[in-house]
Amino acid sequence: MDYQNILNQIQKELASTPSTGKVASYIPELAKIDATKFGMHLHCINSGHYNFGNNEERFSIQSISKVFALTRAMSLLGDMLFERVDVEPSGDPFNSLIQLEYEQGIPRNPFINAGALVISDILISELDNPKKDFLDFVHNITNNNSIVINSEVFESEKKYSYRNAALLNLMKSFGNIKNDIETVLDFYIFQCAIEMSCKELSTAFMIYANQGRKLSGNEQILSPRKTKRINAIMQTCGFYDEAGEFSFRVGLPGKSGVGGGIAAIHPGQYAVIVWSPPLNPKGNSELGMYALERLTTLTGYSIF
Ligand code: GLN
Repeated sequence: MDYQNILNQIQKELASTPSTGKVASYIPELAKIDATKFGMHLHCINSGHYNFGNNEERFSIQSISKVFALTRAMSLLGDMLFERVDVEPSGDPFNSLIQLEYEQGIPRNPFINAGALVISDILISELDNPKKDFLDFVHNITNNNSIVINSEVFESEKKYSYRNAALLNLMKSFGNIKNDIETVLDFYIFQCAIEMSCKELSTAFMIYANQGRKLSGNEQILSPRKTKRINAIMQTCGFYDEAGEFSFRVGLPGKSGVGGGIAAIHPGQYAVIVWSPPLNPKGNSELGMYALERLTTLTGYSIF
């Protein structure tokens, strides 16, 4: 497969694809980003790297970090975890409060904010230094110790975290948050503020494409069974109330973030990352989705 040729074609098409997306502004620091940035990086298990655009520039990974947090929590707790968070698509926006009241403080899945906040609470209970553990984990799966958070994005989200605080308070009233609200919020915002490039994320996501093993050195990070489960949750819940649309158009497990990044994998084949800051009304990168749809169309392969 001539992947570089396919990526070049996608890059050409993007230049003339109209976009109505808007850069996220509810975290004021994110609104400062140049909306014209676009990067794509494809990392194949058997044939290496293909890319174009701003694929080596770091951006705010935001909710893509929820996949790493779930990976750590599944390593530490196993299936017990799923007594506190479910694995069903929500069909609601990422920061919605509505279902939580009906469902007694048990979030629908670990990739909506409510679910990710429960995962943060679990990591805080289980680990002496969750922030260090989280960064160590990211450094290990990328072989790159230089990855850090953007402290301006961290401070900016802290000032405007009323909805996440509301989610935490509601869940705590049902007994599903064990630590202080402030401590959980602080850790969750920290993990979201990590910055990585498309290239770095493609190495990190290789573990999900490669049955839980790092490609370089072959270290087993997560068992194949747990990796299968995380991929299933990415497939059904990775795009909030647009998970069905992403499956329909792209056909790969993946996870988006409001920084404009999308990570997707084709098990046994590749990890692919796109970054384009303008988001569609569901909070997913508009042109990023388009580029991934073109990738599975032009290659003729998705998981379906
Ligand atoms: N930190 C963001 C929030 O909690 C992450 C949301 C996202 O990327 N969808 O609002």
